[in-house]
Amino acid sequence: MPPSAAEGSLLSSLRPLASRAAQQVAGKASCAAPAAMSGAALGAGASASAAAGLPQLIFTSSAAHGHMLPGHVEQPARVDMVMERLGAITGSSAFQAQLHQLATPPPAPLEAVKAVHSYVDELRRTAERAGQEGQPAAVADIGDPDGVTYVTGSSFDDALRAAGAACTLVDAVVAASCVQQAQQAQQAQQQQQKAGSASAPAPPTPGLPSSLGAASSPSSAAAASASTPLGAGTAAFSICRPPGHHATADTPLGYCLFNNVALSARHAQRVHGLAKVLILDFDLHHGNGTADIFASDPSVLFIDTHEASSVYPPPFAPAGAEDVGEGLGRGATINVPLPRYAGDASMMHVFDGVVAPAAERFRPDIILVSAGFDAHWRDPFQQLQLRSSTYHRLACRLRELAGRLCGGRLLFLLEGGYHTEAVAESVGEVFLALLGQPSEEGQREAALPHPEPLQEVEALVARLRSIHGLQ
Ligand SMILES: [Zn+2]
Repeated sequence: MPPSAAEGSLLSSLRPLASRAAQQVAGKASCAAPAAMSGAALGAGASASAAAGLPQLIFTSSAAHGHMLPGHVEQPARVDMVMERLGAITGSSAFQAQLHQLATPPPAPLEAVKAVHSYVDELRRTAERAGQEGQPAAVADIGDPDGVTYVTGSSFDDALRAAGAACTLVDAVVAASCVQQAQQAQQAQQQQQKAGSASAPAPPTPGLPSSLGAASSPSSAAAASASTPLGAGTAAFSICRPPGHHATADTPLGYCLFNNVALSARHAQRVHGLAKVLILDFDLHHGNGTADIFASDPSVLFIDTHEASSVYPPPFAPAGAEDVGEGLGRGATINVPLPRYAGDASMMHVFDGVVAPAAERFRPDIILVSAGFDAHWRDPFQQLQLRSSTYHRLACRLRELAGRLCGGRLLFLLEGGYHTEAVAESVGEVFLALLGQPSEEGQREAALPHPEPLQEVEALVARLRSIHGLQ
């Protein structure tokens, strides 16, 4: 979908907001005071009508064709196939207003990446060398039969771009939530004025800010969105590679160069002042890098569903249910090691029994999703049996949670998934869910190759609820 007049209009309305939000320092509210958020104050080029027409989903993509090793499963075709599949959705006039593609993701600032990773300069030098020699260089997982982690001459820039895309989309969902918050405040004011003209003084509208100045924090924004029927806000999806969730603070790993979800979580906190970040990782493999980075950080709740024997890197990370984080972060890590062949019903049971109640208790300011699709039953790493429609269900639930808990601020980031058709189909299902559309797979759902271990999953959920004191 090429940049269009609609894109210019949207960006002109979001950019001043993102820019203003970027000027906020950590610990302050994500949005400017609603009095300054009226249509007239959206900034140069913005208009109240543009603000009123927020898309439901903003996305961007980067296939990183230069970051490629022949025969490797983590390949540009993963993104190319997704974009081809999405063409039916993104090209549909029915979704023109609800869907927005940001063109070229800008690279993440080096200082932001260095704040999370210690090996940035070394990786850049290795990539430069690989470029000069015209040959990819392995940087981790040497000898791994599933494939090395490598760099080519373009990999460093590609990784910065993937991280930058994630941060830009955080800016976009924050800006959109600010616009929505302003709309809510304006509506509340209009309701009050209407009520006031009928019988003064008007009582405050339950659940809405009693004055424009009241809704100036993420939590009050969430309270407002919880009680007003304005929709679930604007979500985002970064369809970029290389992926990120295996990269630790000290090393690239598992096909991942920089940890995109960790970088975007820090970006949300430091640039937008969003205090609490929920990261859900539903990739087949354990997100060891993200777990490592936030293990002792109580401000980031990390929930990771993975196949029990697919911990990474083997054999070091136990990632068992008892691994709950450390130090101040004890309790802010929830590991869900699923038994082999767990599928759709298992995942829904885990979501409703563990993910949703943990999120409710944590009250995040933004939800980030490490969206790997290798838990799909068709994936070559197949140990779990999620269907394409399972991702539709997950996205519906996450959208509802984000709308209720954090002003709709929800961002998906592509992680693993190596059956390119299954990945494309699954991302398409997430798009449909975030656009409020029914699942395409729907009633055509394939019979799974193996019965699900439901009793084991029920026991696991009960155990996790006990360990984490979930009601
Ligand atoms: Zn994976």
